[in-house]
Amino acid sequence: MNESFDVVVVGAGLAGLAAGATAALGASTLILDGHQPGGRASTDERGTYRFNRGPHALYRGGEAQAVLARLGVSTPGAFPAVKGGQARLGDRVDALPTTAATLLRSRLLSLRGKIALVRFLSGAKKWRPADVAGLTVGQWLDTFKLPEDARKVALWLVRTATYTNNEDRLSADVAAGQIQLALVNNVLYLDNGWGSMVDSLAAAAQRNGAEIRTGAAVTSIERRSDGDLVLTLSGGEEIQAGSVVLAAGTPGATAALLGDRPPAWADLGPEVEASVLDLGLHRGLEHPNLFGIDPPIYLVDHAKSAKHLAPEGGGLVHVARYLPLGDHTPAAELRAGLEEHARMYGVEPSNVAEQRFLLRMTVVGMVPTPASGGLAGRPAIDSSGVPGVFVAGDWVGPRGWLADASLSSGEAAGQAAARDAARRADGVRTLSSRKDVA
Ligand SMILES: Cc1cc2nc3c(=O)[nH]c(=O)nc-3n(C[C@H](O)[C@H](O)[C@H](O)COP(=O)(O)OP(=O)(O)OC[C@H]3O[C@@H](n4cnc5c(N)ncnc54)[C@H](O)[C@@H]3O)c2cc1C
Repeated sequence: MNESFDVVVVGAGLAGLAAGATAALGASTLILDGHQPGGRASTDERGTYRFNRGPHALYRGGEAQAVLARLGVSTPGAFPAVKGGQARLGDRVDALPTTAATLLRSRLLSLRGKIALVRFLSGAKKWRPADVAGLTVGQWLDTFKLPEDARKVALWLVRTATYTNNEDRLSADVAAGQIQLALVNNVLYLDNGWGSMVDSLAAAAQRNGAEIRTGAAVTSIERRSDGDLVLTLSGGEEIQAGSVVLAAGTPGATAALLGDRPPAWADLGPEVEASVLDLGLHRGLEHPNLFGIDPPIYLVDHAKSAKHLAPEGGGLVHVARYLPLGDHTPAAELRAGLEEHARMYGVEPSNVAEQRFLLRMTVVGMVPTPASGGLAGRPAIDSSGVPGVFVAGDWVGPRGWLADASLSSGEAAGQAAARDAARRADGVRTLSSRKDVA
């Protein structure tokens, strides 16, 4: 055995970095990642453009900002540009009905649809998301008795706020909570991309005393018969830990490290996925966005508001299709759909300086359903089935959605792991002092 730490964290995405930064306040802490820190929150430089891995917006006033503030991390950014926003319904493009004026003008909705939508949205502040956790999104929307066109816009809002394209599985508490958060507090597109948040979080972890090791893939974790918790790395080296936080991204990746799927995770919903085309444009276009009310496609130029994503005058456009759960559409078809949407927005091939197609990204590790108890029914940080091994990620814990859940469960798992390691160390000290007395 080469080394020993109070707490070892596997994964340096947002969840792992939050866990490590928190644990390091009271315990010797090592954070391991098979790649570079950041995971899905990474920003990749392509020429003079900064590409997040698909469109990323930070929910203001959510769990993520609260955890980051406690760790001394700020998140400079800007609100999405709304002026000139556009929506698409089939082949028709018109003003995005988000303000009173655009709603009145929009030809995408009937008068009856407009009135129903205003009623739906004006009640949002009073929604109590936890009360609708037992309903699917579809069942919840049925209670508003929306005409078909208004229901389509409501479903667009659900998709945009949750990333989930399935009204028959997703628990309504996720949708109600996310729409409420977005309407009340808005979201931020981060200056320099989400990588700037990753860098600041990694710096906070190091400031607190954690060591971050990259290129260090963990292959297994086991509690040996002598009680030691041992992690094995791909190169064969072993590291001993008082306790461990697994922040490997998805339930599947986490279960692979444990050697088995804990019984508590037997009935988790499938992953939420998106297919993404990231485009760096020589020249930004007039409109800030083109949202697909139908088809389910998102397109926003994040460089219209956030700084340092594209060179002066350029555009940084994310196009994403919200995939139905368990989708198997061929890659060529998905790409063609994203390209067609970009063309409808006005992107000419000659205006594209950089591009990247991400076929099928995991946006969230699992979809909460009414049967599994909605958000609050997600696996707990101590559900791994192995004493001293905690889990964190966007599929863990009762609080938040997307990155909010990763940071919230990361902080909670880091605290629990540090406490657990201290308790075990105290136990060992107590035993050895008893031996001394004897
Ligand atoms: C297209 C897209 C759009 C999104 N948009 C938003 C948004 O608008 N707002 C929002 O809040 N969230 C958004 N998200 C979700 C957000 O990116 C994730 O919830 C969050 O980044 C997940 O962080 P994590 O640390 O839980 O997991 P990950 O980022 O997946 O990190 C897991 C880390 O573990 C490492 N790892 C895995 N296995 C091992 C191993 N065996 N050994 C060592 N290291 C290992 C990986 O290399 C990785 O770095 C989006 C995601 C996608 C894909």
